[in-house]
Order: sequence, then C-alpha cells, then structure tokens
Amino acid sequence: MAQARNSDYEFDLFTIGAGSGGVAGSRRAASYGAKVGICEDSRVGGTCVIRGCVPKKLLVYGAHVADDIADAKGYGWDIPQATFDWPTLIRAKNREIDRLNGIYLKMLADAGVTLIEGRGRLVDAHTVDIGGRKVTAERILIATGGYPTLPDTPGIKHAITSNEALELAELPKRIVIVGAGYIAVEFAGIFQALGADVTLVVRRDIPLRGFDQDVRAHLAEELTGRGMHILSGTLVERIEKVSGGLEVRLNNGQVLPCDQILYATGRAPNTSTLGLAEAGVKTDENGAVLVDEWSVTSVPNIYAVGDVTNKHNLTPVAIAEARALVETLYNGNPTSFDPSNIPTAVFSQPPVATVGLSEQQAREAGKQVDIYRSKFRPMRNTLSGRQEKTLMKLVVDRDSDRVLGCHMVGPDAAEIMQGLAIALQCGATKRQFDRTVGIHPTAAEEFVTMRDKVGD
Ligand code: FAD
Repeated sequence: MAQARNSDYEFDLFTIGAGSGGVAGSRRAASYGAKVGICEDSRVGGTCVIRGCVPKKLLVYGAHVADDIADAKGYGWDIPQATFDWPTLIRAKNREIDRLNGIYLKMLADAGVTLIEGRGRLVDAHTVDIGGRKVTAERILIATGGYPTLPDTPGIKHAITSNEALELAELPKRIVIVGAGYIAVEFAGIFQALGADVTLVVRRDIPLRGFDQDVRAHLAEELTGRGMHILSGTLVERIEKVSGGLEVRLNNGQVLPCDQILYATGRAPNTSTLGLAEAGVKTDENGAVLVDEWSVTSVPNIYAVGDVTNKHNLTPVAIAEARALVETLYNGNPTSFDPSNIPTAVFSQPPVATVGLSEQQAREAGKQVDIYRSKFRPMRNTLSGRQEKTLMKLVVDRDSDRVLGCHMVGPDAAEIMQGLAIALQCGATKRQFDRTVGIHPTAAEEFVTMRDKVGD
C-alpha cells in the first residue's frame, strides 16, 4: 500500500542497525511504498548472521561430525583415524557468512532501501547523524542489538567473548568457559566435541537457569557424561598469563590451567553512543530502550525492536517485532507481537528445545499441572552403543487439559519443537496430542504416546 510521503523529511523511515530486526523492518516498510534508509556500523546481517546464530550453528554442525564418526563403528563403518582442522572449518564458515552478507546487501538494494555505512547517532527526534552526514526522517527505528559484556575481574583482558570464539586461529586444547546461559553451553559443546578439554564455570548450580528443572538436570548429566567439567557455585577471581597459556584462579582456591578463557556471562543493549538522551528516548537501568507493546519508545515517532529492548533476545522475535511495527505504520493493519509460546533451542550436545511454560513456571502461575515425562535411549543410540538418553516432558493444565509446555533434550530437539510450537499456539490439549498419530519409528512420536502421569 503506497503511503503519501511527508516531503519535509529525506526518509519516511530511517533504521539504525542492519541486523535481524532492522533489515526485516526496513525491507517490509519499503515494500509498502515507504522511502527507507538504514545505517550499519559493522556488517549488514547483524549479530545473528555475522557473529551469532548462523556461524555458531555452522560450528555445531562441524562439531556434530565427531559424534557421527564415533557412532559409525556400530553401524559397520570402519573409519580410519579421522583428523580435524579448525582453520579449515573457520575458513569455510567465513565464506558462508560472506555469502549471506552479500545476500543481505542485495536484499536491501532490491527492496530500494538506502544503506549508509557508519555509526548512527540521534541528533533529535527526526535527525540521525552518521559520521557527519545528517539525515532526517519522519520515523526512526532503533534496531542496534546488543554486545557481549565482560566483568572487571582482574586479568579479564586475557578473556574472549563469543565474538572472538568464532574467529580463533586455532582450536584451544583446554578452554574454561564462564557462564551458564545458552551461549556458554553451546560453545562448550562445540569445543568439547572437537576435542578440547572444557571446564564450565557456573556461578550457581547448573546451566540454563529459567529452563525446566528436569531439562537442566538431564543436560548437566549428559554434558558431564561426555567428559565436560561443570564447576557449580564457582566464581573466577583472577586470570593470569603464564608461560604456555593462562591460569584461572577460582574462589574455591582451585587453579585451572588453560589456553583460552571464554566469558558468556551476559550481553548489554547497544545504546551508550546512540544519543538517546538528546532525542528524549528513555532507557531502563541496563540501557535497554523502553517500548510499549507496539514497539513505540517514549518519543512517539521513534521505535525500537529486538535485542536493544532486551526482552526476548532471539532473531525470530526481532524480525516479528519489526514486521508487526511496519504492518501497523505502513499497511494500516495494527499488529503487536504476541510474546506467548516463543519456542527456543539450545544447540548444545545433546541439544535442548522448549516451548511454553516450564513445570516451575506453571506452578508459580498457580496452575494445577499434570506432568508427563519420558526418558529413553533413542533408537539411533542402540547400534552405536552411545549411552545418551533423550528426555521429553509435557506440562499439562489439569483443569483445561491444555498443554502448557513441551520440553526436550536429545537429538533433533529443535527440529521437533518447531511443530509442537504450532500445536501450543493453537491451544492444543493433551487429548489432541494423544489422538495424533505418531510417525514410526521416530523419537518424536514419544510426544504423542506419553500416557502415564508422573505422580504429584
Ligand atoms: P542485531 O542482529 O544485533 O543487529 C544490530 C545491528 O546494529 C548490528 O549489525 C550492529 O553492528 C548495528 N549497530 C549497533 N549500533 C549501531 C549504530 N549506532 N549505528 C549503526 N549500526 C549500529 N538467536 C536465535 O534466535 N537463535 C540462535 O541460535 C541464536 N544464537 C546466538 C548465538 C550467539 C553467539 C549470539 C551472540 C546471539 C545469538 N542469538 C540467537 C541472538 C540473536 O543473534 C539476536 O537476538 C538477534 O541478532 C537480534 O537482532 P537485532 O536486530 O535486535 O540486533
């Protein structure tokens, strides 16, 4: 739907940050006839494409080959001693990222979005300065994402973040990973599978706070089973460079010698140099841009989507928020993003995926729940001799029979969970799960054949 342009401004919409949300929103707005500009101070594609989901997943695939080789013998394959070359994997990954970056640039150009390279800064509510070039816009979209933060632990200059972990010149033989979130666990899995000795330093008990407790416990057990060291209730006190590597001193007196120490302890919104105060855009105490459910900031013509608002911090959410905003602004179709039932995965080894409420969240919400849980050795692990078990769990509302949460730890968890997310979005009941015919033989069919409740 073509919009009448407000010719007082150079652009109808100007977006700061060409990552997942910024690119999606800008392209969609241009497709509705808006004159759109976007600026980017690094590489178009943003965190997800350049230094997040995509490169990480490529390394996860690379790491997975180690499992396949290990499992091959049981299936009759005799694979002579396999060798792995980290620089080859990194080069291949970089080629793919370059290709995707090219596609993103082309998509912007094809959509007629004007790209200005450089760091954007708000001058006022309608003006953005990009390295001295000032542009004006009727509306401004902030989509600047976030960056990994580091604590001020002594010796922190020796630590790397996920950004550098994706670019290491060589595979560390011994790596300490500090953090318990999904990024920490995913990198731990990658390095572990590729042959590094991995120690995960966790401030509290076990990784993946916020996930279902059974999922967390099961994953921790499987990671330990793979030889990963998980040090719970532990903090790093100092990092020192020593001959032959680094030494990480912990608060329990333990000293961990290693080649790299990776911090994945948090991310912060990219807002400190954005000129938000000058334009009157309010942030919370962590610098996240405050928005209402329509992605409107405290300034009515300035909007924000994605990680810069520090809400769900996932690529599909940034994209969905941006598209909802553009539907509202440029297609006469008021749309707000629905944050319920956001499925999510952790590409650990084995992977985790989940949608809806954990058992704890459901109980805290005052629900009476029935729990269905199944732990089994998947068929693929039989001939291979792999001992790993898969965990599946359903959280069901006792009153309405609606499935409130689905959780899985095991091969293909993310691929399986996407379909279940549709079921939850449709409000599926346990009875409807039970009436669904399984696909046999799969692991996924267990989700429609769980009959026995776990006792209260
Ligand atoms: P971004 O994609 O971060 O884009 C923001 C862009 O703005 C960047 O390109 C930045 O350079 C640019 N920018 C910043 N400030 C300025 C400025 N002043 N001027 C101009 N440009 C600026 N999500 C998933 O859904 N699945 C995953 O598996 C997953 N894995 C991840 C793995 C890692 C290691 C990391 C770090 C993140 C991962 N994420 C994953 C999260 C995902 O990457 C983010 O949620 C997503 O990229 C957010 O999109 P965005 O548009 O808000 O910001």
